[in-house]
Amino acid sequence: MRTCPNCHVGTLRPKSVTYANWHVGQFVTAPNLPAWSCDVCAWRQIEPEALNRLLWLIGPVTRPALSQPRHTLTSTDERRPDSADPDPDRDRQTA
Ligand SMILES: [Zn+2]
Repeated sequence: MRTCPNCHVGTLRPKSVTYANWHVGQFVTAPNLPAWSCDVCAWRQIEPEALNRLLWLIGPVTRPALSQPRHTLTSTDERRPDSADPDPDRDRQTA
């Protein structure tokens, strides 16, 4: 039995979790990773060996590449004054 390092009250129990984070500009999800979950405060820790294996495959955690313009975010911000536009492909036709 392992005591929770966060609340020092609960017990860590094995649980499968889904990992999700940005890696080299790509949003990566990995379901069913072995992890430990506290039964009191819901603190979670992915099994370090599994996490290391995953990071070895998909590379280091990074933020989304800010140098690459993200279409949806940019066009949404520009259109905020008249945000009632239901056609997301409008810009593509005029461009
Ligand atoms: Zn806890």
